[in-house]
Amino acid sequence: MLDEKEASALALGYVEDAARADKVKLPNFVAGSDCSNCGNYLGQSGDPAGGCKIFPGKRVNAKGWCTAWLKKA
Ligand code: SF4
Repeated sequence: MLDEKEASALALGYVEDAARADKVKLPNFVAGSDCSNCGNYLGQSGDPAGGCKIFPGKRVNAKGWCTAWLKKA
């Protein structure tokens, strides 16, 4: 699992729970967004965690979030 304290995670403001994303520091936060509905997420719907194109070799929490979030096509 990706650790919030890893340098790569810190660089992109990754949090394991999107509810903890700092909405003041992160004005691009889209209400309701999290890893499970991110275009970079590689997990299956319903999985508690899955891979992410931005963090190769790591799993991210389905309820997580980072500044690389983009709307799933
Ligand atoms: Fe989650 Fe998307 Fe960020 Fe990956 S890029 S950690 S799936 S919000």
